[in-house]
Amino acid sequence: MIARVSLEIALRKEFDYAIPPVLAGQINVGTRVQVPFGARKIYGTVTALAAESAHAGIKPIFKIIGAQSLVTPKILKLARWIADYYCCAPETALKSVLPEAVRKKEEGWKKQLFVRALPSVGDFPPLPKRQQQVWNIIEERREILLAELLALAETTAATVRKLEDRGLIDITPEISERDPYAREHILPSQPLLLNAAQTAALEKICGPGVPRIGQGAPGFKPPDAGASPSSIRHPPSPVFLLHGVTGSGKTEIYLQAIAHSLEQGKGAIVLVPEISLTPQTVERFKARFSSGKWQTLVAVLHSRLSAGERHDEWHKIRQGRARIVIGARSAIFAPVEPLGLVIVDEEHETSYKQEEAPRYHARDVAIVRGRMENAVVILGSATPSLESYYNAKNGKYTLLELPERVDDQKLPRVRVVDLRQTAMKERGNFIFSPQLKEAIHLRLDRREQTILFLNRRGYSTSLQCEKCGYVANCPNCSISVTYHRIEQKVACHICGFVDKVPKSCPNPKCNNPAIRFSGTGTQRVEETLLRLFPDARVRRMDSDAMKRKDDYRKTLGDFRAGKIDILVGTQMIAKGLHFPNVTLVGIVHADSALHQPDFRAGERTFQLLTQVAGRAGRGDVEGEVFVQAFTPFHPAIQYARRHDFTGFYHQELEFRQQLKYPPLSRVALLTLKGRNEDKVKFSAEHLRKVIESTVRGAPMDLRDLILSGPAPAPLLRAEQFYRHQIMLRTRAMSKLSATLARIVASLVLPEGVALSVDVDPVELA
Ligand code: ADP
Ligand code: ZN
Repeated sequence: MIARVSLEIALRKEFDYAIPPVLAGQINVGTRVQVPFGARKIYGTVTALAAESAHAGIKPIFKIIGAQSLVTPKILKLARWIADYYCCAPETALKSVLPEAVRKKEEGWKKQLFVRALPSVGDFPPLPKRQQQVWNIIEERREILLAELLALAETTAATVRKLEDRGLIDITPEISERDPYAREHILPSQPLLLNAAQTAALEKICGPGVPRIGQGAPGFKPPDAGASPSSIRHPPSPVFLLHGVTGSGKTEIYLQAIAHSLEQGKGAIVLVPEISLTPQTVERFKARFSSGKWQTLVAVLHSRLSAGERHDEWHKIRQGRARIVIGARSAIFAPVEPLGLVIVDEEHETSYKQEEAPRYHARDVAIVRGRMENAVVILGSATPSLESYYNAKNGKYTLLELPERVDDQKLPRVRVVDLRQTAMKERGNFIFSPQLKEAIHLRLDRREQTILFLNRRGYSTSLQCEKCGYVANCPNCSISVTYHRIEQKVACHICGFVDKVPKSCPNPKCNNPAIRFSGTGTQRVEETLLRLFPDARVRRMDSDAMKRKDDYRKTLGDFRAGKIDILVGTQMIAKGLHFPNVTLVGIVHADSALHQPDFRAGERTFQLLTQVAGRAGRGDVEGEVFVQAFTPFHPAIQYARRHDFTGFYHQELEFRQQLKYPPLSRVALLTLKGRNEDKVKFSAEHLRKVIESTVRGAPMDLRDLILSGPAPAPLLRAEQFYRHQIMLRTRAMSKLSATLARIVASLVLPEGVALSVDVDPVELA
């Protein structure tokens, strides 16, 4: 027998190996193996089996890595799709579908020594006092971890070994499963009675007359008398977009849809952005499925787990013990079998896109996987991406709407403040308008809490000499450095470059001692707050302030406990937090996100404002939001103010239509980078010519192709590399990917220049 193996080195080629007699019958498609390659030993994955090979002199496989065949044929197929569509080497795609911890040979189940009492034979021997005490514990527990026994009996391993020598006990290594949530105590929860909007949504997902779940979810209509459920149930359409404001009860729908899937004998995958994957989120899922009729393990996969924990979680899924997986981006590859449902919560989040090869978008992979395995896919969001909403409007997805909060609470009042007026009235103060200041005062008086948001950390965003115009730039990137006052340093937020703060203008011809800091970061907001409100308890929450693992949890704990009046922060505070006593949210500079050289800047700003505004008024008191902006009439700000998603969607779509941007087309971004700008520029121009000549003879479907560039990337230089880009737009991306793959395979680039292909990019910088 012959196995075709895809090696873990990206060669875009598979190799044949012989299956030696000792391994006969143990190798399947998906089995991970170690094989000889030249003088090296390399890991790979079996992609096919054959009776014989067309090649002569093939070498045998060394050994199998991992007992079970690790990549299921379905996941293998998905990996192939990723390689094709995202135009990357199949080996790279294959590598990403298995967590590192599962791929590696060294990682395995954790074995620990267990002590077990053996059935007694003959008379029980008289024991010395110490041994007798240890024996008593073992006898009572029947089985105990050696480490636990030693601690409990305050004894040494030598004493325990003496019992083993007497044939009374047995000490053996056994698998002990690592559970990252072992310490959490979770109370079981029951399905909630759904409201009308939720019921309508769930019926569309599961088909009408969905069976009662658990102890009875009376929100469902019983099936018509006489008709069996199967005769009235329409085959559910496999893709859905659930558009519901925060707090509208989306998660409850997810939970009940999962129960429905389990009932049909199928498992579910829930994708959540890494940052929202908090213990509370996980707990809601574990609580529902930790007991009762649909009891199953809920596996969790995210980057903060240890390698060992990830190994164990993955195998719990592979073995079918965990039927539900909740995780970040790469959890979409979890080997749930059979798969009934995939949920992508906050589907608009850019973190679902992987920013290195394979540059896949987990939401889009979810759609493809759902189609391949006939599973239902639910995309959920309060601010869907233009792409998904467009698909829903065009009938590709079924649109489900939850327009109101479950508790009927009103959305907060949003006021937009024109910062240009503030700037005129109060020279130099661009941070707090009089309106926002007064609102903060009011909250301090009423002992309510305030959140202030700014998407820029540090103190000031640039350092400029007013005399000669010198700007302190990063030596490695085309961007100015940010001043960090607390740490007394300047830092580049792209490459991490750090330097001392210059005392005077570094321009040798100038040396002006008065160098000016301009632009506002969170440190400056914090400092200004302390000056304006000396009695307020202020805390800052950004990646500078939250260095240690526990800082985040502790700060949120203090905030919840009312030990903080005002929380200042970046993106970190924008998501998912729920604090009933927060009645005021201030967005310090709403337009800083607008002025990005990216066609999605408006969409991002709208999403961000909606999300941040959603932090206000989640308790009994109505919330208030102040949006400060220098361009207060920008549509993204105005539609967010009115909580008008569809209004925003229609005007934004018009703009995309005019410029043929997604969702009216798909984009592939080709970036050439290298240290020598001339070489990079030359290569980019050469690549454009190659594309033009290839496309000329290409399929008719590529007639709509728009080729723009090459042009310098918005951030021309990053980490010492110059970048030039070519942007391609077409509706026929699969065709374009195939064409690009051919081009990439034969393209010869000068030394020191590399090409990356990003299909459906989310970041244009
Ligand atoms: P979302 O996921 O849309 O933000 P959630 O599902 O978290 O909304 O619901 C918000 C809150 O409302 C949660 O505390 C949840 O337990 C509660 N909730 C959801 N659905 C119902 C319902 N049908 N009846 C009562 N409470 C509900
Ligand atoms: Zn830099």
